[in-house]
Amino acid sequence: MAKKNPNRCSFCGCSDGEVRLMITGLNGYICDNCARQAYEIVRDNLESGNSNASSKDDKFGLNLKNVPKPREIKEYLDQYIIGQDDAKRYLAVSVYNHYKRLGQKVDDSGVEIEKSNVIMVGPTGTGKTLLARSIAKLLKVPFTIVDATVFTEAGYVGEDVESILSRLLQVADFNVEAAERGIVFIDEIDKIARKSDNPSITRDVSGEGVQQGLLKLLEGSMVNVPPKGGRKHPDQDYVHVNTRNILFICGGAFDGIERKIAQRMNTHVVGYDSVKNLSTLDRDNLMKYILPQDLKSFGLIPEIIGRLPVLTYLNPLDRTALRNILTEPKNSLVRQQIKLFEMDGIALSFEDDALEYMVDKAVEYKLGARGLRSIMEAVMMEAQYESPSWRKKSFVVTKDYAKQQIEKANLPTAM
Ligand code: ADP
Repeated sequence: MAKKNPNRCSFCGCSDGEVRLMITGLNGYICDNCARQAYEIVRDNLESGNSNASSKDDKFGLNLKNVPKPREIKEYLDQYIIGQDDAKRYLAVSVYNHYKRLGQKVDDSGVEIEKSNVIMVGPTGTGKTLLARSIAKLLKVPFTIVDATVFTEAGYVGEDVESILSRLLQVADFNVEAAERGIVFIDEIDKIARKSDNPSITRDVSGEGVQQGLLKLLEGSMVNVPPKGGRKHPDQDYVHVNTRNILFICGGAFDGIERKIAQRMNTHVVGYDSVKNLSTLDRDNLMKYILPQDLKSFGLIPEIIGRLPVLTYLNPLDRTALRNILTEPKNSLVRQQIKLFEMDGIALSFEDDALEYMVDKAVEYKLGARGLRSIMEAVMMEAQYESPSWRKKSFVVTKDYAKQQIEKANLPTAM
């Protein structure tokens, strides 16, 4: 006798042998998984007032009520990033405005909210990428990180700037509409600064030429994107992507820009008031006085600066910040280690002295937050190797232990 065909879920196609529960309808079936997902979608949409009736005229199905408020965005970022309050506020506001912009309706008033691309300036390893990454996670939009150093002017070895959009398309599963409202983080934007003040002396293939190329993307235009990235070539099929609603967040260390800031402040302030102003300056952190004209002195072309209207800075991380980074973020290095050991049934803890010692090493090696990770790995490597075979159920990392492990690991003094 022929075997009876299994009932299949009309949504995901699973057979009733593959799911826990199959519900029968008039003309089809739904499995427990799909029913749960459908329930969640209905609940989320109704709770936010985003029913068909209210979202009909919203091109992206966007409802401002769904978008976290700037304060909520900042609170979310606080869970993952230590300090950098100014940068968090600036980012929160520009992301929120970005969403207002996506939802704006063209009316007769003639007021059109313009795009607010962001540029973050600050030493390497202070959290620029982490900020951008965390924002994208919160907003659940396609997000990609690109390194500006790989781009060169068309015709030279390297990548075309359009390949930025290829990556965004890839993370959006080639859904052009989703990619068109994603977020792109362009790292090391300072590396495409013009090398000399006189652009005509030598050909500057990786500097001004790339800035010109980038300008087109930042401005918002229809761009032909090679879907697989790399170089454009004539026989390729292109995907057309409109960058009007893509939010660009740029980051760079801008090494030496403090000198330009100091120069500007010294030359521009004259008279009694200036003496007073200069005496209240925070000389250790001139970065916080950064203005668009300093970016120009550094070698960004004015058109690019104009397209990155939100300018903010990140503070260098001091000892206290480094110490907090070890323990406070939701997925801090210490919490991650505790979780790793928990999986083997071992309760791991760190003595304060041990953590202080790791911070000392990060400061000594001038590694900043990025180095904390390698230091933690060096300290924990042996225990991670041995502990799964231990009988004991707890382990305390003391300063002596940390010291011993670091000495054994023989970390280079400058990394
Ligand atoms: P940047 O982009 O500024 O060079 P990253 O964001 O890539 O630096 O930081 C490198 C790593 O250092 C991050 O993955 C994170 O683990 C840690 N880190 C840096 N700054 C912070 C911070 N302010 N708060 C928490 N962790 C940080």
